[in-house]
Formats: sequence, structure tokens, C-alpha cells
Amino acid sequence: MTFRRIKYKSEADFAKLRESAKVVAVTLAEVAKNIKPGVPLTYLDSIGEQCIRDHHAIPSFKGYEGFPAALCLSVNDVVVHGIPKAGDVLRDGDIISVDCGALLDGFHGDFAYTFAVGEVSEEVRLLMDRTKESLMLGIKAAMNGNTVGDIGHAVETYCEQFGYGVVRELCGHGIGREMHERPDIPNYGRPHSGDRLQPGMCICIEPMITLGKRQIYIENDGWTIHTKDRLPAAHYEHQLIITDKGTEVISSYKQIGEVLGTNELY
Ligand code: MG
Ligand code: MG
Repeated sequence: MTFRRIKYKSEADFAKLRESAKVVAVTLAEVAKNIKPGVPLTYLDSIGEQCIRDHHAIPSFKGYEGFPAALCLSVNDVVVHGIPKAGDVLRDGDIISVDCGALLDGFHGDFAYTFAVGEVSEEVRLLMDRTKESLMLGIKAAMNGNTVGDIGHAVETYCEQFGYGVVRELCGHGIGREMHERPDIPNYGRPHSGDRLQPGMCICIEPMITLGKRQIYIENDGWTIHTKDRLPAAHYEHQLIITDKGTEVISSYKQIGEVLGTNELY
């Protein structure tokens, strides 16, 4: 195994990362406009890919280790890495996590949002809200000088009070010229443990939280990750940079909020 160093970014790199993140923000909002019962997943994927390309960017996920689509579309008990397949259609009461990556000018943007399709049950709505809240707490912990363990601890302790499962096999990550760089950002951990957050880092925090148990399995397609108990899971992801002036969230849900009529903090 090759030892991978953390790749610290310059101000110029940060400027490019902000632009990549903007493409993802616009794309997720475009997809959001089309989320309703009866819509095929392949249609959402084509909307996403078109939007990314309209902004002169490349879908980061398409072809990544053979992934066949521009978006990861993960419905209900699919935690992450769902592949939009012909014939798959959204139904009233579903939830769908839309994860989008865009490569622009050499740097990747990568973030995700879980949407309700029509009316979802109260317990699923709470799972979504609390997963997003755990991401906000993770962001609060992502301060210069703190560690990745502080982030994971914040996410985990918040979610476990509700009896939710915190998926451990997948985690957030550093990001830059490569989509997945060091350090790993697990959604669990001990305070003050693991890699230290320092100026020049760009990271993605992405809690994957389940209504039931945390155990998962991978479908035969080699990608799609389900909860073992087939209960739903939510997934939100933000992308941030650490500078000596503080932490800046460069991803944004504001445009999604405009579509959904929700007030988003970032
Ligand atoms: Mg990610
Ligand atoms: Mg992602």
C-alpha cells in the first residue's frame, strides 16, 4: 500500500475548488426541481450530467473505478453509490440521496443531499433532519487544530441518542485534484484522535445514517450499498476548506433551499 500524504492547497487551489463546488450546487438544485413521484432515476442522472457539462465541467463519478453514471442516486434502503437503472422510478414516500461530483479546472467538487419524494413518514422525515443536523455539528467541529476524531465524535454522539445506525465502512475524505484524498473523515471517533485539521486542507464530511442497524451489504453490481435490515438511510455531504482565518463551507444548499422552500444554513 502506498503511503499517501495529505495534499495541502494554495489560495489559488481554493479559488478553483470554490468554482467546482458551485457547479455541484447548481446541479443539485436542477435535479431537485425534477424530484417527484413517477420520475425515472435515469432521467435525473441525465439532467445532472447535462447541467455539469453545461458548466464546462466533467462528472467526477462517471467512469470512476467503472461507475457508470454521473450521479449516485440512492433510494430508501440504499445508503450510497446507487446506480440509476432503467425502469427505476421514484414513488411517493421515497427518499433519495443525490450525490454529485464535478471536475472543473483540475479540481473536484463533491457533495450530497437527501430529498423527500412527495409525502414521507414522520420517522423518515426526522431521520433526514437529524442526519443533516449531524453534518452541521460535524462542520462545527471541523476547526483548525481539531482532529478528524472530533468531527466523527460529534456526528456519532448526536445520532446515537436517537438509536440510529452510523455507517462505519464508508467515510468522508480529503478532496482536491483527486476526489478521494487523505485524510479519511469517519462518522465516528474519539475526540482529539486521528489526523489534525490544518490550514490548506479541503475536506468532505458526509454522515450516512440509518433508521435501524448500521450494518450494510454491497449489491452484485459491486456498487449499490444497502442497509442489511432494509430500513432507510439518509446521506448529506458538505465540502469545506480550512484556512488560518477559519473554516469555510464551499458547498451550498442555498439553491436547493430555493427549490424546496427550505431555509438552509449553508
Ligand atoms: Mg464524498
Ligand atoms: Mg459525494
